[in-house]
Amino acid sequence: MTLHLDPRAPWVVSTHDLGRRPGSMREMRLTLPAPADIGVDMIGVPKDADVKLDLRLEAVMEGVLVTGTALTPLRGECARCLEPVTSETEVSFQELFFYSAEDAAEDDSLLDGELLDLEPVLRDAVVLTLPLSPLCSEDCAGLCTDCGIRLADAEPGHKHEVIDARWAKLQGLVPEHNNDQES
Ligand SMILES: [Zn+2]
Ligand SMILES: [Zn+2]
Repeated sequence: MTLHLDPRAPWVVSTHDLGRRPGSMREMRLTLPAPADIGVDMIGVPKDADVKLDLRLEAVMEGVLVTGTALTPLRGECARCLEPVTSETEVSFQELFFYSAEDAAEDDSLLDGELLDLEPVLRDAVVLTLPLSPLCSEDCAGLCTDCGIRLADAEPGHKHEVIDARWAKLQGLVPEHNNDQES
């Protein structure tokens, strides 16, 4: 498991100042552009949106422990009425980045020299909080099953008389009936 991080990538953070001294620590507050493709079907983080981070980097024996929170904007659509939905989510995370692959299990994160990549950590933390069925409001009534109008925009009590639909069907049958008699 080798990785080569680009030190200029926005989510790659240097741990140079910690000097691998257990107990050394740095707190940082920063805003980074959201990486692409963090999301599920109906909602996600808009690419390049501001993600506000509050981080603590702490050197421990085996590596660097990163603890933090991220506040990210969300954009999607209502699962019931398909109106655009915007909101935000705040997630917390903690990840130990190991100095050496020998100490780490297969799924653990590793440092690349003095660099670590926060993007996968953010991605995992955010995706877990995303609603599978985002709603524009808790009580969104959705769409009319007959005409597709958004019920929040419709007259109160909007509905269709079932009898209308039956008449329409009967009317469709009348010409056929007449034709049978004529032939
Ligand atoms: Zn809705
Ligand atoms: Zn309707």
